Amino acid sequence: MFAIASQLEWSSRAPIAQVTTLQYRQLHALFLHAEKHSSFWRKRLREVGFDPRAKSFDVGTLPKLPVLTRQTIQLHAEEMRAYPAPVKWGEVVSFQTSGSTGQHLRVDKPEINGLLFDAVTFTDHIWNRRDFSGKLAVIRKEVGKDRGGPYWSRETLNLVTTGPRVQINPVGRDIGEVLDWLEAERPTYVTTWPSVARQLAYLKLQRGGPQLSIRQFLTFGEMVSEELHWILQKAFGAQLSDRYSTEEAGYIALQCEHSRRYHVTPLAIVEIVDDEGQPVPPGTQGRVLVTLPHSFIMPLIRYEVGDYAIAGTTCGCGRTWPVLERILGRERSIVQFPDNSRQFVPIDGLDWTAIAPVKQWQFRQIAADRIDLLVAPARRLTSAERSKLIDGVTDLFHGAFAINLREVDSIASLPSGKRPEFIRDF
Ligand SMILES: [Zn+2]
Repeated sequence: MFAIASQLEWSSRAPIAQVTTLQYRQLHALFLHAEKHSSFWRKRLREVGFDPRAKSFDVGTLPKLPVLTRQTIQLHAEEMRAYPAPVKWGEVVSFQTSGSTGQHLRVDKPEINGLLFDAVTFTDHIWNRRDFSGKLAVIRKEVGKDRGGPYWSRETLNLVTTGPRVQINPVGRDIGEVLDWLEAERPTYVTTWPSVARQLAYLKLQRGGPQLSIRQFLTFGEMVSEELHWILQKAFGAQLSDRYSTEEAGYIALQCEHSRRYHVTPLAIVEIVDDEGQPVPPGTQGRVLVTLPHSFIMPLIRYEVGDYAIAGTTCGCGRTWPVLERILGRERSIVQFPDNSRQFVPIDGLDWTAIAPVKQWQFRQIAADRIDLLVAPARRLTSAERSKLIDGVTDLFHGAFAINLREVDSIASLPSGKRPEFIRDF
């Protein structure tokens, strides 16, 4: 694992052409493997002219392949699997993912993917110069009932001595209970979803009390906004460090600690494309397609993750890994307007604390032209606060929706543990 992390660190400073050459060598190996062991991929690759006997690899083959949708995977999962993986890649692990769109998917990965994953996590620690002696708090559903352990995680075990890990499963718990736990544990670092971090921050600002200093929130799995950066700073004096990953694809990119841009790891090839599958120019928004050159058992080639991002160019930090300017997040951040246009809305872009003592909130689009704003306030809102909130939200959605404000006691998490700010519910 440390050897892989060292190579990753080297690659982040190496000329991009050199890294790309190595990456495409691995991609060629994946194409050969997939062509040999999977009927689905044999057909797909042959259709775009891939010749397994050719000596050299045409890098132009990749963008010719059709986009791989989640639905295609669900329909053709069995023909897509390319067994067996090389023996030296280790045992195969299967798991289910719900993904961003709530459609279930089974993904099989050999052990080496775990090693690669851990190496990226370790690289992220190094980039951020994390203090390994600190206490790490993990707030995510995967922890189950386990309360923690004497070391941070698999990637640090037997490599560096770390402080302890404490953890809590937030599913089914009130966010106040999670904050109580955090205030008792007083960790140095917190790992959780952005939506949970945001709600903890707003609740802490409402609750006040003794200062709770947290050095950094390590987030994953949802969109991160500028607002989240400053609200975590305000509530906990904390920095925010995001990792762009999905359950099925693993790590895709790490947030740069210098610029807040994202660097795509060499374990993934990312394309940002328009609705026709054509690459968009830097600075432009498009869909994220991911190709994983190490995905031998379940090849993911031009896989449409379901996220939008803004293509980037370079980063001032000097690292050569490709840059994503911003991750705009999931399909659900793209709101379908009454005129049928689909627009990206910065759903978390309001400074709620300046308007009203709001602990939790959520938008629910309940009809083509109606949005309910659910708010869990610290006390009953005044009519002035209510109308200010409604005005703010009406503006946010360009006056296109009838906004109905509903005060509730609390807003439950989804079964996954996430607490999305926007739900389409009709
Ligand atoms: Zn950078």
